[in-house]
Amino acid sequence: MNIILLGPPGAGKGTQAGFLVEDRDMIQLSTGDMLREAKDSGTEMGKLVAGVMARGELVTDEIVIGLIREKLQGDKKGGFIFDGFPRTLAQADALGELLEDCGETLDAVIELEVNDEVLVDRIVGRAAETAAAGKPVRADDNEESLKIRLMAYYKQTSPLIGYYHAKGMLQGVDGLDEMPAVRADIAAILDK
Ligand code: ADP
Repeated sequence: MNIILLGPPGAGKGTQAGFLVEDRDMIQLSTGDMLREAKDSGTEMGKLVAGVMARGELVTDEIVIGLIREKLQGDKKGGFIFDGFPRTLAQADALGELLEDCGETLDAVIELEVNDEVLVDRIVGRAAETAAAGKPVRADDNEESLKIRLMAYYKQTSPLIGYYHAKGMLQGVDGLDEMPAVRADIAAILDK
């Protein structure tokens, strides 16, 4: 089973993807994590994307599609969770083609429904906790980048809600609920 977790920054996609990895032996493909790894390892691509990410803008479709293409060739285990990908309509089309090419299907698109106030609180809170623990804070977890990340979400990513709705694949869960409740809602959708 292959699924997409859709929602704005701070909606809880990464947390829920972690649960799905635990519960269903699925593979989490987070383009955000992949890009941060590339940045930290100092590769050419990493250097190229560092500034774009810190500002809160999207990196090019070509780069992220390339990252996902590579991962789809490996072990599939309990299926893939796409977390933070696709983020544009071009990426959504590319994902459809990539899955088809390797004989896979997309089984569900789960939208974590939240509101902006909670996102700002969660992300600013996450940055403060990380800093208090003495760990490095994400370069894009500040209010200025967050505004740009939210705008990128509404302009470039939220059209995917209509796109997957039209394909009959979209399912919403209340992302404002407690984490275990969201986990249970997602499990119920996948077990249907
Ligand atoms: P968020 O918590 O904001 O959802 P992510 O960890 O998913 O953050 O992504 C962090 C940054 O990495 C994004 O703001 C963007 O610059 C870049 N990025 C991640 N995934 C994609 C993608 N699919 N397309 C373009 N840029 C991406």
